[in-house]
Amino acid sequence: MYRSLSLYIDGAFIPADERTTRPVRDPATGTVIGALPLATTADLDRALAAAQRAFAAWRNTPAHERSAILRRVAELARERASDIARCITLDQGKPLAEAKGEVVTCADHAEWHAEEGRRIYGRVIPARAPHIRQFTVREPVGVCAAFTPWNFPFNQAIRKMVAALGAGCTLILKGPEEAPSAVVALAELFHDAGLPAGCLNVVWGEPAEVSRYLIESPIVRKVSFTGSVPVGKQLAALAGAHMKPVTMELGGHSPAIVCDDADIDNAATVLARFKLRNAGQVCTSPSRFYVHAKAYDRFMAAFLTQMREVRVGPGLDPATQMGPLANPRRVAAMQQFVDDARGHGGQIVTGGSAAATGYFFEPTVVTELPDHAMLMRDEPFGPIAPVVRFTDLDDAITRANSLAYGLSAYAFTGSTARATQLANTLQSGMVHINHIGAINPEIPFGGILDSGMGREGGAETFDGYLVTKYVTQV
Ligand code: NAD
Repeated sequence: MYRSLSLYIDGAFIPADERTTRPVRDPATGTVIGALPLATTADLDRALAAAQRAFAAWRNTPAHERSAILRRVAELARERASDIARCITLDQGKPLAEAKGEVVTCADHAEWHAEEGRRIYGRVIPARAPHIRQFTVREPVGVCAAFTPWNFPFNQAIRKMVAALGAGCTLILKGPEEAPSAVVALAELFHDAGLPAGCLNVVWGEPAEVSRYLIESPIVRKVSFTGSVPVGKQLAALAGAHMKPVTMELGGHSPAIVCDDADIDNAATVLARFKLRNAGQVCTSPSRFYVHAKAYDRFMAAFLTQMREVRVGPGLDPATQMGPLANPRRVAAMQQFVDDARGHGGQIVTGGSAAATGYFFEPTVVTELPDHAMLMRDEPFGPIAPVVRFTDLDDAITRANSLAYGLSAYAFTGSTARATQLANTLQSGMVHINHIGAINPEIPFGGILDSGMGREGGAETFDGYLVTKYVTQV
């Protein structure tokens, strides 16, 4: 049912052979479904050498040839979406439809970067003397090291791959050891699409050891990471010590403000459904709900209906709407949030418990929490929603802006003036008003403050992978 797993170095898929392996588990049952080969130091050195060698040719490959390969990746991703999705559900846990949706929307990312990569322009700068020509060109930064997490294992890896490769960089990517099938499938897509050997390399290992080794290597010129704030800060510090630029897509603790003049039922329904997507393991998940006191009862009625009705089960069951959490750490974390909430006088209105088998946790709603409770301060990254009241919008905005996170924010109001106020004052890389906007490739995705730096997607997507060279010529 599951797939074979390998490293991918210098255009070759490398099985475990004598290497150490790490078990891969099905989160719905906890049973071992695969063995992931971990890279040796010699493997990492080979990946570095291959990426360096390949860069010399890939940076000079015409953009329209690079574009054709990315477009072929998109086609292959669509063709293979069902098989890839099945393995994502097996090792990550999300419902099959969500997994398939992830793969199909990522084909769009590959296609979009194929097109944008053909439009990386420099500019002519008017000179101060008629015999001087001066201009800029944008050159690929070099070999990149990328580290991607387990919550959207296909999406987060392909976004880094297409941005780096589309800009003319080569890369070594370490994917999530707990949910590795998507990244191996991606390596196959690029391989079969004709990507030259060495342009993309996939390695696995002990995350801290692999990231240190790659970031400290003089061959690597750029670091890109998606994951938690603490790890992002460690990697950014290490990269900084070696003067390497970073793109950091880190955690969030997104506020959702619901005003009394909003369409309350719609707000509750939309927010509850998005909250439980991927069992809440989404960095942009709404995770602090501030509801106007006058709208509170109506909001809670609709919100609780949604949270209670969702069908929780194994991701391969077509009836399942929410799967298990991806690993036992998240289950333990949910229990800690619930215990802390109870300790702060919080009411567990629904849910609050883990299942006996698999890594399941019930959709959970907590009320009556003070702002200093753990759930109101730390990113839950799971199916747990604290709902609190407000009476003054300025105060709600202050509370929403009170944390060091700044990834996504949500607001619902029927007033244009309030919508404008919310858009202007919410401190966040992304603000969604009266709906949950899709994260399509043309959207500049990313955070401010502790939630990271740099953008993936949008017109900014290649910025982190390019350097500007100024040329003056007489
Ligand atoms: P974690 O901080 O241990 O790991 C997060 C990710 O970083 C994992 O994929 C892990 O393999 C990787 N990682 C950890 N240490 C690393 C290192 N030194 N070098 C390179 N990679 C490293 O946390 P976790 O328990 O796996 O995940 C839970 C937390 O991670 C959540 O609270 C959430 O904030 C965050 N997270 C965020 C995203 C996101 O999309 N921004 C995705 C997944 C996890």
